Amino acid sequence: MEKTLVLIKPDAVERNLIGKIIALYEANSLKVTKLRMVHADVETATEHYKEHEGRDYFEPLITYITRSPLVAMVLEGENAIQKVRELNGKTNPADAETGTVRKLYGVSYRENTVHASDSQESAEKEINIWF
Ligand code: ADP
Ligand code: MG
Repeated sequence: MEKTLVLIKPDAVERNLIGKIIALYEANSLKVTKLRMVHADVETATEHYKEHEGRDYFEPLITYITRSPLVAMVLEGENAIQKVRELNGKTNPADAETGTVRKLYGVSYRENTVHASDSQESAEKEINIWF
């Protein structure tokens, strides 16, 4: 069974979407094995998005991700990393496929509702950051 790290980002928690988003993962045979609500500090957010440091969207990204609580969780299942990336949809909600979390609930390129690890290496790293 593969593990992946998911964040339900502040825009979603603010709009009471935690339950709807988790229900979609559970309906797709993914198991929540760790879960925690946290108001992220700048250090943790910077660690999580380290590879984006220096990009023009980096500072507003950190401001957004630290502005109110988020939900961090570990999802487990067969092919969980790719499966959750597909369920979440493309980064920009405008490009995301019908039925994906970002198409359903995304606000903008930045405020795109969810995060999911993109490889086994990043999953391990990100699980250690949040748990
Ligand atoms: P993903 O979350 O799909 O893995 P990236 O790793 O490329 O996407 O980017 C991390 C996060 O940074 C995105 O989810 C989004 O919130 C934000 N982001 C990325 N690119 C942009 C952009 N061009 N404008 C605004 N926000 C962006
Ligand atoms: Mg990414």
